[in-house]
Amino acid sequence: MRIDLHTHSSVSDGTDSPRELVLAAKEAGLDVVAITDHDTTAGWEPAAQALPEGLTLVRGMEMSCEGRGEDGRPVPVHLLAYLFDPEHPGFAEERRRLRTEREGRIRAMAERMAADGLPIDLEALSAAAGPSIGRPHLARALIDAGVVATVDEAFRGPLATASPYYVHKRDTPLGDAVRLVTEAGGVAVVAHARARTRGRLLDLDHVRELAPLGIGGLEVDHADHSAEDAAVLRRLADELRLPVTGSSDYHGINKSIPLGAHTTAPDQFDELLSKATGAQVITG
Ligand code: AMP
Ligand code: FE
Ligand code: FE
Ligand code: ZN
Repeated sequence: MRIDLHTHSSVSDGTDSPRELVLAAKEAGLDVVAITDHDTTAGWEPAAQALPEGLTLVRGMEMSCEGRGEDGRPVPVHLLAYLFDPEHPGFAEERRRLRTEREGRIRAMAERMAADGLPIDLEALSAAAGPSIGRPHLARALIDAGVVATVDEAFRGPLATASPYYVHKRDTPLGDAVRLVTEAGGVAVVAHARARTRGRLLDLDHVRELAPLGIGGLEVDHADHSAEDAAVLRRLADELRLPVTGSSDYHGINKSIPLGAHTTAPDQFDELLSKATGAQVITG
């Protein structure tokens, strides 16, 4: 069984449409794939419609959250949410708020760039993005404008948190997010908690404090984790008696990591499934 529980489509910042994503998952030899776009469930329906025979689809999302950093200051955290009820009103409303926040933030960053003479076309940028726009869309626009050569270069330069163009967005407090996902019958898994290249790290004591609210697992095997960091998270999962996951965090050509680069063990997957009551997996 090859199980990849973290992938993005073009409804957020991946480059494959939901349909292309499930076809690519089948092609890559996966048995189970989760679609986990940022702050939207818009890919669920088209992915389910196009599901190839034998492939199991886990409907999920990656929620933009704010946790407590090791230095005590707020830090961005991603929370994977699986198999929740998409109609849960409080959760649906918070997803809408997050997407509105994304929209305004990217617009503000693009305006700062345009004011500084960078040839960024806001209308073209919005047209190229789906319901959940993010910095990778701005990276593409910067490449098209000839400002940078690669997405990575954009993130090291004009899109970096230290850049004068950077604008903060108000993400969901991590504890509120865990509560919402759980209330909606979903399973909440903390994504890539030791991804150092992205900046400051989440205080793992914050994870310990929130575990009783219903954290359902930890993503351990991920391209952005060193072996040491993965080991730290595995010990934390042991301590908290939580299942661990592994996944690619595939973004199509916006990142270089292929589908199935890391996978989740079947027994860990079963444990996650046993906690979900908001939606079910779909098998093609
Ligand atoms: P945003 O949510 O708009 O702040 O953008 C963050 C997203 O950018 C993350 O979800 C990653 O997928 C992506 N990202 C961050 N750093 C890089 C990078 N160096 N190369 C490609 N994508 C990146
Ligand atoms: Fe992303
Ligand atoms: Fe993430
Ligand atoms: Zn992701």
